[in-house]
Amino acid sequence: MSKLYIVPTPIGNLEDITLRALRILREVDLILAEDTRTTAVLLRHFDISTPMRSHHKFNEHATAQRIAEEILGANPNSSLHGKSGKTIALVSDAGTPGISDPGFLLVRTCLEAGVEVESLPGPTAFVPALLQSGFPCDRFCFEGFLPQKKGRSSRLAALADESRTMIFYESPFRIVRLLEQLGEHFGLDREISVSRELTKKFEETRRGSISSLLEYFRTTAPKGEFVLIVKGSLC
Ligand code: SAM
Repeated sequence: MSKLYIVPTPIGNLEDITLRALRILREVDLILAEDTRTTAVLLRHFDISTPMRSHHKFNEHATAQRIAEEILGANPNSSLHGKSGKTIALVSDAGTPGISDPGFLLVRTCLEAGVEVESLPGPTAFVPALLQSGFPCDRFCFEGFLPQKKGRSSRLAALADESRTMIFYESPFRIVRLLEQLGEHFGLDREISVSRELTKKFEETRRGSISSLLEYFRTTAPKGEFVLIVKGSLC
């Protein structure tokens, strides 16, 4: 039966792809990829030759409805030659689509159109970072990327009394700035865990107070991809 599959891909280590993800990527009619060049490397590695099409945050608003129609077989002018009932997989550059990546809009559009959506479990950066922090993981809140300008400070102010463990994604260029802002809103003594390059050769997790990690990253340039885990206010 035609459907949309959401397929997580590795965040660094190619061994982390699941057997089912590989089978689905081989079997579907089409793979929607955030960056076809990045996904081509993955597909080549696993000898998969399924056709790809670009699907990213700049075109998803315009194409989501057409994709839902392709899966339903309701669009005879689709680029897949009008063959009805296409099965399509969505992947992002790394990790789970929809988690700080395109995905939500297509899933919602497909569900509204009556398309079945199946989401595979698999790699995502925040789970290993959360576990490696050693902070409570029975309850947590995923904040992803904070707004870069407008709304950033008010979002952090709203989280100051959050008692659950908090998860942030951030670019290496803004790590020091984020640590400074976390210090301003949560206090410099709040415990934090910073994981970088998860599953990759230079994977590293540093734990300590916000002030100790600020001191470290002010003298050691942050490199790679980062997840920050902040202990909740009551822990
Ligand atoms: N969809 C991805 C997921 O499931 O985690 C997230 C994609 S988001 C565009 C990219 C951000 O995820 C990076 O800036 C970083 O915060 C985090 N990230 C992705 N891969 C990572 C890795 N190997 N180590 C640490 N953080 C990573």
